Amino acid sequence: MSKRVYNFSAGPAVLPEAVLEKAASEMLNYRDSGMSVMELSHRSGLFTEIITDAESSLRKLMNIPEQYKVLFLQGGASTQFAMVPMNLMKENKKADYVISGSWSKKAVKEAKSFGDVKIIADSSDSNFSYFPEFDDSMVRNDAAYLHVTSNNTIYGTQKMALPNISIPVVSDMSSSILSEPINVEDYGIIYAGAQKNIGPAGVCIVIIREDLITENESIPTFFNYKTHADNASMFNTPPTYGIYIAKLVFEHVLSLGGVNAMEEINRRKSKLIYDAIDHSNLFKAHVENVKDRSLMNIPFFTDNEEVNQKFLKEAAAEGMVTLKGHRSVGGMRASVYNAMPESGCIRLADFITEFDRENS
Ligand code: PMP
Repeated sequence: MSKRVYNFSAGPAVLPEAVLEKAASEMLNYRDSGMSVMELSHRSGLFTEIITDAESSLRKLMNIPEQYKVLFLQGGASTQFAMVPMNLMKENKKADYVISGSWSKKAVKEAKSFGDVKIIADSSDSNFSYFPEFDDSMVRNDAAYLHVTSNNTIYGTQKMALPNISIPVVSDMSSSILSEPINVEDYGIIYAGAQKNIGPAGVCIVIIREDLITENESIPTFFNYKTHADNASMFNTPPTYGIYIAKLVFEHVLSLGGVNAMEEINRRKSKLIYDAIDHSNLFKAHVENVKDRSLMNIPFFTDNEEVNQKFLKEAAAEGMVTLKGHRSVGGMRASVYNAMPESGCIRLADFITEFDRENS
C-alpha cells in the first residue's frame, strides 16, 4: 500500500504522522549515538533523558501535582486490574466498583480475589448503552477506593467529570487519557494502557498519589507500586521504545495546544460522525443519550447484518479501515482518538451520509 489509510481501530490505534516521521528520522542513529533508541541501555544518559522528558511533558499536559508519582509500567491496563486491589485493599479489604462495560467487569473479577467488592452502579441491563449514575451516598466510607472506567472503549460511553467522592477514586482512563482536561486531584490513581492516545502497546501509565504507595511485604516485588516509585520506573528494564514514542506524542500534543485544544477538536470530530448517524435513515447509535456519548469511540449499526458488511467493505475500499464493531455490540465502531485527523472524521461522516442515501 503506497499511502496511509484512515485507521479507526480501537487500539493499537493511529499515531500522529508527525511522530512517526520523527521516529523514522531518528531510527538508525539517535542523537549521534550510532544506535537506535531500541538499542540504548535503559541506564544510559540518553535514555534517562527520554524518560525524564516524557514524565515532565505528561506532568505539564495533565497538570499533575507534585504529590503524585508518574510510573511507566508493563503488563497493560489488565495488570492494573490486579495491582490496584493488591496494593490498596489492605486493612479492611473492601472496594467499591462501577460496572460500565466489559473492562470494568474484568477489573471486578480481579479485585474479588483480594477482598469484598461492592458494585455500586451497573449498566449491564442495557448492554452498557448508558453510563450508570452514582454518587457519594452509594460508596462505603470504609472502602479502600472506588474504581471507575472513564471511557468504555467497546460501548462508547464516557463519564469524565465525577461527582464528589469521599474515598480515593481509581480510574481506568485507557481510552480517554489526554482527550480532554481532567482534575488529577480528584483521583487517587489514574492508569492507562498506552495503545490508544499515548503510543505503542507495551507501556502502561500509572499516576498515583504518594500516600497510596506503601510498604507491603506480602506483595510480590514487581507488583508493589513502591518498587516502581522508588526506582523511577527502572526497577527492571522498562519498555524503552514505547516510552520514547510516548515522549514524542506528549511533545506533539503540547505543540498543538495541550488537552484543552484536544478536547475542542475531539468534540468537533465526534459531533461530525454522530450528526451523520443521527440524521440517517439506516444507522443507529448504540448510545442514544448524548450526555453519555464518548468522544473517542462511536459504535453504530444498521439492523441488517448484510448491510453492515456492505458498509464495512465499501468503507475499506475508500481507505477507511478497522471499522468493524466489537463482537459484543456488533455493527461498526469508529474510534477517533487524538491522532485521528479531522479530515478522517469528515470523510467518514460524508461516507455515512452517501451510503445512507444510496441504500435506504
Ligand atoms: N481498559 C480499557 C478501557 C480498555 O479499552 C482496554 C483495552 N482495550 C483495557 C483496559 C485493557 O488494556 P490492556 O490490553 O493494555 O491490558
